[in-house]
Amino acid sequence: MEYITFNNGVKMPLEGFGVFQVPDPTVCERAVLDAVACGYRLIDTAAAYGNEEAVGRAIAKCGVPREELFLTTKLWVQDASYEGAKAAVQTSLRKLGLDYIDLYLIHQPMGDYYGAWRAMEELCEAGKLRAIGVSNFYPHVLCDFCETVAVKPAVNQVELHPFFQQENALALMKEYGVVPEAWGPFAEGNHGIFTHPVLTAIGQKYGKTAAQVALRWNVQRGVAVIPKSVHKERMEQNLNIWDFSLSDGEMAQITELDVGHSEIVDHSAPDFVKRLHSLKVHD
Ligand code: NDP
Repeated sequence: MEYITFNNGVKMPLEGFGVFQVPDPTVCERAVLDAVACGYRLIDTAAAYGNEEAVGRAIAKCGVPREELFLTTKLWVQDASYEGAKAAVQTSLRKLGLDYIDLYLIHQPMGDYYGAWRAMEELCEAGKLRAIGVSNFYPHVLCDFCETVAVKPAVNQVELHPFFQQENALALMKEYGVVPEAWGPFAEGNHGIFTHPVLTAIGQKYGKTAAQVALRWNVQRGVAVIPKSVHKERMEQNLNIWDFSLSDGEMAQITELDVGHSEIVDHSAPDFVKRLHSLKVHD
């Protein structure tokens, strides 16, 4: 496993385990326990996933010392304000059963996220959050944000996979010292990614699957990945990407797969924005 160092000196594993769309607490707890047993040390959850308590139970039971784990969670839109973020961090800490969070992200650039950021800066200073970052900040939003705030985000977690590569966004993140982290590194299964002919043919040279090639391609371009699976054999497979390298030619072949847009979400669609505003994670 390789690590990446943030702009504030905190180190994060370049590969972690995501738990979006694992709402069943028993399944989630089991999945996180299996993931930690496989060797994952970064767990990515969010207030909006409704599974922070299950993740917390797994962390408590897994037997790995807290300081060896790296826990990411996220602020939901409903709590995007100064006071809202202060309270939301306390709620996440309680649900997770932790006294600090390694990385706390603004989940969406919606609501009063500048107010939320000021609260997060203070909580970082107070040691409750080791690092703070953002998610789904498309280039114009990230640029405005970085030009405005005192503490630059450590991470921007955005959709990044062979079919939506966002090279321009990565260049901007590099300019501001923001680490890119890929959500949906398998495009959530779209584009036939697991049997894609180009990824499969490249993988065959190394005895790897298309899934492993997709992850390796991202980490090789400096992007952290947080694949999700509730199947232990897939968790193991997804973690087994650190013993091979793609050639420049293979990286270039994958570059050709970019379709230049998401087929999962359209963050610029007003209906989508309204839907996220209406999603409440608490009363
Ligand atoms: P992924 O791209 O990781 O795809 C997950 C899907 O791939 C699941 O259906 C899983 O099935 C399947 N899968 C996993 N590994 C394999 C494999 N080796 N072979 C075949 N199928 C496989 O989607 P996610 O949306 O879950 O993204 C990953 C993480 O990113 C999330 O869990 C979450 O933590 C984060 N995220 C953040 C967002 C944000 O807005 N910040 C948005 C979306 C995700 P199965 O589980 O049945 O094995």
